[in-house]
Amino acid sequence: MKIIMLGAPGAGKGTQAEMISEKYGLPHVSTGDIFRANIKNGTELGKEAKKYMDAGQLVPDELTVKILLDRVAQDDCKNGYVLDGFPRTIPQAEVLDKALTELGDKVDYAINVDVPDENIINRMSGRRACVTCGATYHVVYAPTKVEGICDKCGSELILRDDDKPETVKNRLEVYHKQTQPLIEYYDKKGVLKEVDGTVDMNEVFNSIVSILA
Ligand SMILES: [Zn+2]
Repeated sequence: MKIIMLGAPGAGKGTQAEMISEKYGLPHVSTGDIFRANIKNGTELGKEAKKYMDAGQLVPDELTVKILLDRVAQDDCKNGYVLDGFPRTIPQAEVLDKALTELGDKVDYAINVDVPDENIINRMSGRRACVTCGATYHVVYAPTKVEGICDKCGSELILRDDDKPETVKNRLEVYHKQTQPLIEYYDKKGVLKEVDGTVDMNEVFNSIVSILA
């Protein structure tokens, strides 16, 4: 079972990918993690990717797909995997499809965790982080005992720049422009499944399980 996770940043697709990975025993393949691992281990692909990154350039899609295929060719992926963070654009999806077709393989499900922008902006703006120990909270979903004070170390909590509405809006704009077209792309291929991501994460997961069952 090869699954691709789709959804806006902050929609919770990483959490769902992790839950799918655990229940079905499929590796959670996140492109960020694979890049870091290749660079850390000094592989040829990692060295090549690092050249682009050091020059402040985007890693070309062909190279990203190479790194990805190298990962999913490993033994633990032989029964499938959950892709998180890739593809992000139509050209990336096309390169991936081409490569999978050459291997006689294909994507089985593209699961879109659907959450309206307003919900995402609200969720993110409720996040709080400790300035001292880095612990994270949420004013609604994971509140501290005393408002604005870290439970673990007693320091002050802040709203990080990354979680501020303006930053989140910018990221959502990029998502709508570059990544959202993938929903139609996978729909045309007949593998798109949509779940309501506004509900509790366990409910979201139940919907996914009923799709995969
Ligand atoms: Zn703290």
